[in-house]
Amino acid sequence: MAYKISDSCVACGTCINECPVEAISAGDIYVIDADKCISCGTCAGVCPSEAIAEE
Ligand code: SF4
Repeated sequence: MAYKISDSCVACGTCINECPVEAISAGDIYVIDADKCISCGTCAGVCPSEAIAEE
């Protein structure tokens, strides 16, 4: 099960460099590619907006 970024995302960029498989893309809100995500949870742990959760 992949992680997903909700619309609580403020596009701060904290998560994007933490993902070990480069599954996160920048944008108005950030997006996780479910096909790349290995559900490690690293991004959820660093998000200051608590915008990332397992689907
Ligand atoms: Fe990347 Fe891990 Fe977050 Fe999936 S859960 S997007 S692999 S940091």
